[in-house]
Amino acid sequence: MAASSARSHVSSGLYGVVGHGIGYSLSPFIFRTAFNSLDWRADYSVIDIEESELPGLLEAMRYAPIRGLSVTKPYKVVVVPFLDRLDESAKIVGAVNTIVKSGRQLVGFNTDVSGVEVALSRFRSKLRNREAVIFGAGGAARAVAYALLSRFRMRTVTIAARRPAQARRLIHDLQDRMPPPVLASGAFRPVGDLQAALANAALVVNATPIGTGHTHAAGLLPRSTGLQAGTLAFDLVYRPRPTPFSIAAHSAGCRTAIDGWPMLVAQADAAFSLWTGKNFPRAVSRKLLNLKKLP
Ligand code: NAP
Repeated sequence: MAASSARSHVSSGLYGVVGHGIGYSLSPFIFRTAFNSLDWRADYSVIDIEESELPGLLEAMRYAPIRGLSVTKPYKVVVVPFLDRLDESAKIVGAVNTIVKSGRQLVGFNTDVSGVEVALSRFRSKLRNREAVIFGAGGAARAVAYALLSRFRMRTVTIAARRPAQARRLIHDLQDRMPPPVLASGAFRPVGDLQAALANAALVVNATPIGTGHTHAAGLLPRSTGLQAGTLAFDLVYRPRPTPFSIAAHSAGCRTAIDGWPMLVAQADAAFSLWTGKNFPRAVSRKLLNLKKLP
């Protein structure tokens, strides 16, 4: 009886992603595919709201049958003060992409960190003790930067953001919060000579929305940039495929580029487990990762 009421608790009710300007999100597709495969009566919706509406939504979540929320741009950082607790990754990163309800309390997690770890896992040995460049300094850049030092033991992570103050804040916050043993083997730095940083990079990451909706990425990676053939390009954008950043990276010399789809599936997998206490259905993640064309 207890088990079946616990099951009906997670297998019905509402889940969703909160953000602004996120009509492109494929999170509803991922979670609805999982719920349908399990025959659950749960639903997952896009909640596109203004920042002023965020506190009201979170207060309502404490009492309404909203079982869990994903958080996306531009609210991953601003959502933090409205939560009761953060797990360790969210605390260090200072950004939340998953809210779990525990009784009436709201707990913030950052499953983007495990999403990055899964998406880049097959390149682990190529990245260890090497250098990376991240474009952007928002919520996702924070998770990527933290994952690269803590999970991949990269030596230097250069942050190239259009607002230098935002890059400096990211670096300051992460250095302040990360455990000293991790910082003993790796460091963050703001971009100085971008050309030199790119020439030395084993990994370049697009953690800006550039490329979403067919915007050009050549501004970040002009052809003349001269990436090494072995440099891995990782675009957090996942639509359209191939993404403009992947195309620009190939034109600039690199041979391998991956987009943000494997990371999106992996962070959703981790969020699903946090919300439901169950594993994301393996057959569904295999099917999603093998899709030739995204909806
Ligand atoms: P965010 O917090 O809004 O940060 C975006 C960053 O990109 C900021 O530093 C922003 O600078 C910069 N930026 C925006 N437009 C730019 C432009 N035209 N030129 C240069 N820099 C620009 O967003 P986020 O949550 O970090 O997300 C970033 C992207 O990653 C989004 O496209 C999101 O969909 C994607 N993402 C994908 C996954 C995945 O699983 N694949 C996970 C997380 C995020 P300003 O602050 O100056 O605008």
